[in-house]
Amino acid sequence: MSVEIERNPTRAVTIGNVTIGAGHPIAVQSMCATHTQDVEATTQQTNALFDAGADVVRIAVDSRKDAEALAEIRKRTAANLSVDLQENYRLAEHVAPHVDKIRYNPGHLYHHEREKPWQEKVRYIVGIAAENDCAIRIGVNCGSVDPDKLSLFPPDDSIAPMLSSALEHCELLDGLGFTRYCVSMKDSDPSKVIEVNRRFAEQRPDVPLHLGVTEAGMPPDGVIKTRIAFEQLIGRGIGDTIRVSLTVPNDRKHEEIKAGRGILADIAAGRVRSVVDFGLDTLNIISCPSCSRVENEAFVVLAQDVKELTRYAKDHAITIAVMGCRVNGPGETDDADLGLWCGPKYVNLKKGEQELGAYPYDEILGRLKEELDALIEAKTPG
Ligand code: SF4
Repeated sequence: MSVEIERNPTRAVTIGNVTIGAGHPIAVQSMCATHTQDVEATTQQTNALFDAGADVVRIAVDSRKDAEALAEIRKRTAANLSVDLQENYRLAEHVAPHVDKIRYNPGHLYHHEREKPWQEKVRYIVGIAAENDCAIRIGVNCGSVDPDKLSLFPPDDSIAPMLSSALEHCELLDGLGFTRYCVSMKDSDPSKVIEVNRRFAEQRPDVPLHLGVTEAGMPPDGVIKTRIAFEQLIGRGIGDTIRVSLTVPNDRKHEEIKAGRGILADIAAGRVRSVVDFGLDTLNIISCPSCSRVENEAFVVLAQDVKELTRYAKDHAITIAVMGCRVNGPGETDDADLGLWCGPKYVNLKKGEQELGAYPYDEILGRLKEELDALIEAKTPG
Protein backbone atom coordinates (compact mmCIF):
# COMPACT_ATOMS: atom_id res chain seq x y z
CA MET A 1 0.00 0.00 0.00
CA SER A 2 1.18 3.52 -0.62
CA VAL A 3 -0.32 6.83 0.38
CA GLU A 4 -0.68 9.88 -1.81
CA ILE A 5 0.90 12.89 -0.10
CA GLU A 6 0.27 16.28 -1.61
CA ARG A 7 3.60 18.03 -1.37
CA ASN A 8 3.96 21.75 -0.80
CA PRO A 9 4.46 23.66 -4.09
CA THR A 10 8.11 24.47 -3.42
CA ARG A 11 10.39 25.71 -6.17
CA ALA A 12 13.13 23.55 -7.63
CA VAL A 13 16.65 23.95 -6.22
CA THR A 14 19.51 22.11 -7.88
CA ILE A 15 22.45 20.85 -5.81
CA GLY A 16 25.00 19.25 -8.13
CA ASN A 17 23.11 16.51 -9.98
CA VAL A 18 20.22 16.39 -7.49
CA THR A 19 17.17 18.62 -7.51
CA ILE A 20 15.06 19.20 -4.43
CA GLY A 21 11.62 20.81 -4.29
CA ALA A 22 8.95 21.04 -6.99
CA GLY A 23 7.82 17.48 -6.32
CA HIS A 24 11.24 15.86 -6.76
CA PRO A 25 11.97 12.85 -4.55
CA ILE A 26 12.97 13.88 -1.03
CA ALA A 27 16.78 13.92 -0.97
CA VAL A 28 18.66 12.25 1.89
CA GLN A 29 21.75 13.93 3.28
CA SER A 30 24.44 13.28 5.86
CA MET A 31 27.55 14.97 7.16
CA CYS A 32 31.13 13.88 7.67
CA ALA A 33 32.31 13.60 11.26
CA THR A 34 35.98 13.17 10.42
CA HIS A 35 38.53 15.96 10.73
CA THR A 36 38.27 17.74 7.39
CA GLN A 37 42.05 18.12 7.14
CA ASP A 38 42.40 14.36 7.33
CA VAL A 39 41.83 14.05 3.60
CA GLU A 40 42.06 10.24 3.57
CA ALA A 41 39.51 9.73 6.32
CA THR A 42 37.14 12.43 5.07
CA THR A 43 37.26 11.14 1.49
CA GLN A 44 36.62 7.64 2.74
CA GLN A 45 33.64 8.73 4.80
CA THR A 46 32.25 10.89 1.99
CA ASN A 47 32.43 7.93 -0.37
CA ALA A 48 30.94 5.55 2.20
CA LEU A 49 27.97 7.92 2.60
CA PHE A 50 27.70 8.30 -1.18
CA ASP A 51 27.76 4.52 -1.62
CA ALA A 52 25.06 4.20 1.04
CA GLY A 53 22.85 6.46 -1.09
CA ALA A 54 23.53 9.98 0.22
CA ASP A 55 22.24 12.55 -2.26
CA VAL A 56 24.38 15.26 -0.66
CA VAL A 57 27.30 15.00 1.78
CA ARG A 58 28.15 17.96 4.00
CA ILE A 59 31.64 18.80 5.20
CA ALA A 60 32.50 21.47 7.78
CA VAL A 61 35.22 24.05 7.24
CA ASP A 62 36.64 26.22 9.97
CA SER A 63 39.93 27.36 8.43
CA ARG A 64 41.90 27.90 5.22
CA LYS A 65 43.56 24.53 5.80
CA ASP A 66 40.13 22.86 5.90
CA ALA A 67 39.29 24.66 2.65
CA GLU A 68 42.48 23.34 1.04
CA ALA A 69 41.63 19.82 2.19
CA LEU A 70 38.17 20.20 0.69
CA ALA A 71 39.67 21.00 -2.70
CA GLU A 72 41.54 17.69 -2.56
CA ILE A 73 38.49 15.74 -1.35
CA ARG A 74 36.49 17.17 -4.26
CA LYS A 75 38.90 15.50 -6.70
CA ARG A 76 38.41 12.12 -5.05
CA THR A 77 34.64 11.84 -4.82
CA ALA A 78 31.63 11.91 -7.09
CA ALA A 79 29.30 12.90 -4.23
CA ASN A 80 27.38 16.17 -4.31
CA LEU A 81 29.11 18.25 -1.67
CA SER A 82 27.75 20.84 0.69
CA VAL A 83 29.96 22.92 2.90
CA ASP A 84 29.12 24.09 6.38
CA LEU A 85 30.42 27.60 6.92
CA GLN A 86 30.47 28.21 10.60
CA GLU A 87 31.88 31.30 12.17
CA ASN A 88 34.13 32.50 9.35
CA TYR A 89 31.80 33.44 6.51
CA ARG A 90 34.79 34.71 4.50
CA LEU A 91 35.85 31.14 3.81
CA ALA A 92 33.00 30.99 1.27
CA GLU A 93 35.21 32.20 -1.57
CA HIS A 94 37.79 29.49 -0.85
CA VAL A 95 35.34 26.60 -0.73
CA ALA A 96 32.62 27.51 -3.22
CA PRO A 97 34.61 26.38 -6.30
CA HIS A 98 34.71 22.85 -4.83
CA VAL A 99 31.13 22.35 -3.63
CA ASP A 100 27.54 22.34 -4.84
CA LYS A 101 25.93 24.00 -1.87
CA ILE A 102 26.90 26.43 0.90
CA ARG A 103 25.19 26.29 4.29
CA TYR A 104 25.43 29.34 6.48
CA ASN A 105 23.97 29.81 9.93
CA PRO A 106 22.40 33.27 10.43
CA GLY A 107 23.25 33.03 14.13
CA HIS A 108 26.96 32.67 13.40
CA LEU A 109 27.37 35.64 11.09
CA TYR A 110 28.07 38.11 13.86
CA HIS A 111 31.16 36.22 15.12
CA HIS A 112 33.46 37.45 12.38
CA GLU A 113 33.92 41.16 11.52
CA ARG A 114 31.37 42.14 14.16
CA GLU A 115 31.12 45.74 13.02
CA LYS A 116 29.91 44.77 9.55
CA PRO A 117 26.11 44.51 9.06
CA TRP A 118 24.90 40.92 8.58
CA GLN A 119 23.14 41.92 5.36
CA GLU A 120 26.49 42.76 3.82
CA LYS A 121 27.88 39.36 4.82
CA VAL A 122 24.91 37.58 3.29
CA ARG A 123 25.27 39.61 0.09
CA TYR A 124 28.86 38.46 -0.10
CA ILE A 125 27.93 34.76 0.40
CA VAL A 126 25.16 35.03 -2.19
CA GLY A 127 27.53 36.62 -4.70
CA ILE A 128 30.06 33.82 -4.19
CA ALA A 129 27.36 31.15 -4.50
CA ALA A 130 26.02 32.67 -7.71
CA GLU A 131 29.51 32.92 -9.26
CA ASN A 132 30.29 29.31 -8.42
CA ASP A 133 27.00 27.64 -9.37
CA CYS A 134 26.18 26.76 -5.76
CA ALA A 135 22.88 26.48 -3.96
CA ILE A 136 22.53 27.91 -0.45
CA ARG A 137 20.97 26.60 2.75
CA ILE A 138 19.93 29.13 5.36
CA GLY A 139 20.51 26.85 8.35
CA VAL A 140 18.95 28.13 11.59
CA ASN A 141 19.74 26.16 14.72
CA CYS A 142 18.04 26.32 18.11
CA GLY A 143 21.32 26.61 20.02
CA SER A 144 22.76 29.45 17.98
CA VAL A 145 19.90 31.74 17.02
CA ASP A 146 20.80 35.30 16.04
CA PRO A 147 21.02 37.16 19.40
CA ASP A 148 19.19 40.18 17.92
CA LYS A 149 16.23 37.95 17.20
CA LEU A 150 16.27 36.33 20.63
CA SER A 151 15.96 39.73 22.28
CA LEU A 152 12.72 40.46 20.40
CA PHE A 153 10.69 37.62 21.91
CA PRO A 154 9.92 36.29 25.40
CA PRO A 155 12.69 33.95 26.62
CA ASP A 156 10.33 30.96 26.76
CA ASP A 157 9.40 31.32 23.08
CA SER A 158 12.11 29.51 21.14
CA ILE A 159 10.04 29.08 17.98
CA ALA A 160 9.43 32.75 17.04
CA PRO A 161 13.13 33.80 16.93
CA MET A 162 14.05 30.87 14.68
CA LEU A 163 11.12 31.50 12.39
CA SER A 164 11.71 35.22 12.24
CA SER A 165 15.41 34.77 11.48
CA ALA A 166 14.71 32.32 8.64
CA LEU A 167 12.01 34.53 7.10
CA GLU A 168 14.21 37.62 7.28
CA HIS A 169 17.05 35.88 5.45
CA CYS A 170 14.66 34.55 2.79
CA GLU A 171 13.48 38.08 2.19
CA LEU A 172 17.02 39.32 1.76
CA LEU A 173 17.94 36.54 -0.67
CA ASP A 174 14.74 37.10 -2.64
CA GLY A 175 15.54 40.81 -2.78
CA LEU A 176 18.94 39.97 -4.22
CA GLY A 177 17.25 37.89 -6.92
CA PHE A 178 18.80 34.67 -5.58
CA THR A 179 16.17 31.95 -5.31
CA ARG A 180 18.34 28.86 -5.40
CA TYR A 181 18.12 28.28 -1.67
CA CYS A 182 16.44 26.14 0.94
CA VAL A 183 15.90 26.64 4.66
CA SER A 184 16.33 24.52 7.76
CA MET A 185 15.21 25.24 11.31
CA LYS A 186 16.47 22.55 13.64
CA ASP A 187 15.84 21.86 17.29
CA SER A 188 16.56 18.83 19.47
CA ASP A 189 12.90 18.65 20.46
CA PRO A 190 10.84 17.01 17.69
CA SER A 191 7.68 18.90 18.69
CA LYS A 192 9.49 22.22 18.15
CA VAL A 193 10.83 21.03 14.80
CA ILE A 194 7.27 20.23 13.77
CA GLU A 195 5.93 23.55 14.98
CA VAL A 196 8.58 25.82 13.46
CA ASN A 197 8.57 24.07 10.09
CA ARG A 198 4.77 23.97 9.95
CA ARG A 199 4.57 27.70 10.62
CA PHE A 200 7.31 28.48 8.10
CA ALA A 201 5.60 26.39 5.42
CA GLU A 202 2.37 28.31 5.95
CA GLN A 203 4.13 31.59 5.28
CA ARG A 204 6.60 30.47 2.63
CA PRO A 205 5.18 27.38 0.90
CA ASP A 206 7.46 28.13 -2.05
CA VAL A 207 10.76 27.66 -0.18
CA PRO A 208 12.14 24.09 -0.04
CA LEU A 209 12.73 22.83 3.49
CA HIS A 210 15.61 20.74 4.79
CA LEU A 211 14.28 18.83 7.79
CA GLY A 212 16.24 17.54 10.75
CA VAL A 213 16.15 17.04 14.50
CA THR A 214 19.48 18.28 15.77
CA GLU A 215 21.37 16.35 18.45
CA ALA A 216 18.83 13.56 18.12
CA GLY A 217 21.28 11.25 19.88
CA MET A 218 22.12 7.58 19.54
CA PRO A 219 20.08 4.97 17.77
CA PRO A 220 17.42 3.81 18.36
CA ASP A 221 16.25 6.89 20.32
CA GLY A 222 17.73 9.33 17.79
CA VAL A 223 15.91 7.61 14.95
CA ILE A 224 12.64 7.59 16.90
CA LYS A 225 12.82 11.32 17.69
CA THR A 226 13.57 12.10 14.07
CA ARG A 227 10.85 9.79 12.81
CA ILE A 228 8.26 11.61 14.93
CA ALA A 229 9.12 14.97 13.38
CA PHE A 230 9.42 13.64 9.83
CA GLU A 231 6.17 11.69 9.95
CA GLN A 232 4.23 14.72 11.10
CA LEU A 233 5.81 17.08 8.56
CA ILE A 234 6.33 14.95 5.48
CA GLY A 235 2.91 13.41 6.02
CA ARG A 236 1.55 16.96 5.55
CA GLY A 237 3.59 17.61 2.42
CA ILE A 238 6.32 19.60 4.19
CA GLY A 239 9.99 18.79 3.53
CA ASP A 240 12.16 18.41 0.43
CA THR A 241 15.39 17.05 1.86
CA ILE A 242 16.23 15.39 5.17
CA ARG A 243 19.05 14.51 7.47
CA VAL A 244 18.87 12.06 10.36
CA SER A 245 21.56 13.21 12.84
CA LEU A 246 22.85 10.27 14.87
CA THR A 247 25.60 9.94 17.44
CA VAL A 248 27.41 6.93 16.03
CA PRO A 249 31.08 6.02 15.60
CA ASN A 250 32.67 7.09 12.33
CA ASP A 251 32.50 3.63 10.77
CA ARG A 252 28.72 3.62 11.25
CA LYS A 253 27.92 7.08 9.87
CA HIS A 254 26.17 5.51 6.86
CA GLU A 255 23.40 4.47 9.30
CA GLU A 256 22.08 8.03 8.99
CA ILE A 257 21.30 7.38 5.32
CA LYS A 258 19.77 3.99 6.02
CA ALA A 259 17.58 5.46 8.77
CA GLY A 260 16.49 8.36 6.55
CA ARG A 261 15.59 6.11 3.65
CA GLY A 262 13.75 3.76 6.01
CA ILE A 263 11.63 6.57 7.45
CA LEU A 264 10.80 7.89 3.98
CA ALA A 265 9.81 4.41 2.77
CA ASP A 266 7.56 3.91 5.79
CA ILE A 267 5.86 7.28 5.32
CA ALA A 268 5.31 6.57 1.63
CA ALA A 269 3.80 3.20 2.53
CA GLY A 270 1.55 4.69 5.21
CA ARG A 271 3.43 2.98 8.04
CA VAL A 272 3.28 5.98 10.34
CA ARG A 273 3.97 5.34 14.02
CA SER A 274 4.24 8.65 15.79
CA VAL A 275 1.07 8.57 17.80
CA VAL A 276 3.19 8.18 20.92
CA ASP A 277 3.55 11.10 23.29
CA PHE A 278 7.29 11.49 23.05
CA GLY A 279 9.54 11.82 26.02
CA LEU A 280 7.66 14.40 28.05
CA ASP A 281 7.63 12.42 31.28
CA THR A 282 10.78 10.42 30.83
CA LEU A 283 14.51 10.88 30.80
CA ASN A 284 15.58 12.49 27.55
CA ILE A 285 19.20 12.22 26.42
CA ILE A 286 20.13 14.47 23.53
CA SER A 287 23.54 14.25 21.92
CA CYS A 288 25.03 15.84 18.83
CA PRO A 289 25.77 13.70 15.78
CA SER A 290 29.46 14.70 15.99
CA CYS A 291 31.31 16.28 13.11
CA SER A 292 34.83 17.38 12.22
CA ARG A 293 34.82 19.75 15.19
CA VAL A 294 34.69 17.02 17.84
CA GLU A 295 37.52 17.86 20.22
CA ASN A 296 38.14 14.38 21.59
CA GLU A 297 37.39 11.07 19.89
CA ALA A 298 36.15 9.78 23.27
CA PHE A 299 32.97 11.83 22.76
CA VAL A 300 30.88 9.05 21.19
CA VAL A 301 31.86 6.58 23.92
CA LEU A 302 31.05 9.21 26.53
CA ALA A 303 27.59 9.74 25.03
CA GLN A 304 26.98 5.98 25.19
CA ASP A 305 28.28 5.82 28.77
CA VAL A 306 25.97 8.65 29.81
CA LYS A 307 23.03 6.75 28.37
CA GLU A 308 24.02 3.60 30.28
CA LEU A 309 24.77 5.39 33.53
CA THR A 310 21.51 7.30 33.61
CA ARG A 311 19.20 4.39 32.81
CA TYR A 312 18.12 4.23 36.46
CA ALA A 313 16.56 7.70 36.06
CA LYS A 314 14.39 6.71 33.11
CA ASP A 315 11.09 7.64 34.78
CA HIS A 316 12.11 11.22 35.55
CA ALA A 317 11.35 14.16 33.26
CA ILE A 318 14.98 15.26 33.00
CA THR A 319 16.92 16.27 29.90
CA ILE A 320 20.67 15.62 29.66
CA ALA A 321 22.59 17.04 26.69
CA VAL A 322 25.97 15.71 25.54
CA MET A 323 27.81 17.81 22.94
CA GLY A 324 31.05 17.23 21.08
CA CYS A 325 32.71 20.65 21.00
CA ARG A 326 32.98 24.24 22.11
CA VAL A 327 31.39 25.63 18.92
CA ASN A 328 27.84 24.59 19.74
CA GLY A 329 28.28 22.84 23.07
CA PRO A 330 27.97 25.84 25.44
CA GLY A 331 24.84 27.25 23.75
CA GLU A 332 23.08 24.02 23.00
CA THR A 333 23.32 22.69 26.54
CA ASP A 334 21.59 25.77 28.02
CA ASP A 335 18.09 24.31 27.78
CA ALA A 336 18.99 20.93 29.27
CA ASP A 337 18.70 20.18 33.00
CA LEU A 338 22.26 18.87 32.88
CA GLY A 339 24.68 19.49 30.04
CA LEU A 340 28.08 18.14 29.09
CA TRP A 341 30.25 19.54 26.35
CA CYS A 342 33.61 18.13 25.42
CA GLY A 343 36.94 19.89 25.23
CA PRO A 344 40.23 18.25 24.20
CA LYS A 345 41.07 17.12 27.76
CA TYR A 346 38.12 18.07 29.92
CA VAL A 347 34.38 17.74 29.84
CA ASN A 348 32.44 20.81 30.91
CA LEU A 349 29.47 20.17 33.14
CA LYS A 350 26.47 22.51 33.34
CA LYS A 351 23.21 22.65 35.24
CA GLY A 352 20.89 24.64 33.01
CA GLU A 353 22.90 27.74 32.13
CA GLN A 354 25.06 27.46 35.26
CA GLU A 355 28.62 26.19 34.71
CA LEU A 356 29.64 23.64 37.33
CA GLY A 357 33.22 23.07 36.21
CA ALA A 358 35.42 21.09 33.82
CA TYR A 359 36.39 17.49 34.68
CA PRO A 360 38.77 14.93 33.17
CA TYR A 361 37.08 12.28 31.02
CA ASP A 362 37.55 9.62 33.70
CA GLU A 363 35.87 11.73 36.38
CA ILE A 364 32.93 13.25 34.56
CA LEU A 365 30.52 10.32 34.94
CA GLY A 366 30.87 10.36 38.73
CA ARG A 367 30.18 14.11 38.83
CA LEU A 368 27.24 13.73 36.50
CA LYS A 369 25.73 11.06 38.74
CA GLU A 370 26.04 13.31 41.80
CA GLU A 371 24.21 16.09 40.01
CA LEU A 372 21.58 13.76 38.62
CA ASP A 373 20.88 12.28 42.05
CA ALA A 374 20.55 15.77 43.53
CA LEU A 375 18.17 16.77 40.73
CA ILE A 376 15.99 13.72 41.25
CA GLU A 377 15.85 14.39 44.94
CA ALA A 378 14.92 18.02 44.35
CA LYS A 379 12.15 17.00 41.96
CA THR A 380 10.75 14.28 44.18
CA PRO A 381 7.78 15.56 46.19
CA GLY A 382 7.80 15.40 49.99
FE1 SF4 B 1 29.86 19.18 15.58
FE2 SF4 B 1 30.16 20.47 17.86
FE3 SF4 B 1 27.73 20.41 16.71
FE4 SF4 B 1 28.74 18.22 17.80
S1 SF4 B 1 28.21 20.14 18.90
S2 SF4 B 1 27.79 18.36 15.76
S3 SF4 B 1 30.89 18.40 17.38
S4 SF4 B 1 29.57 21.40 15.91
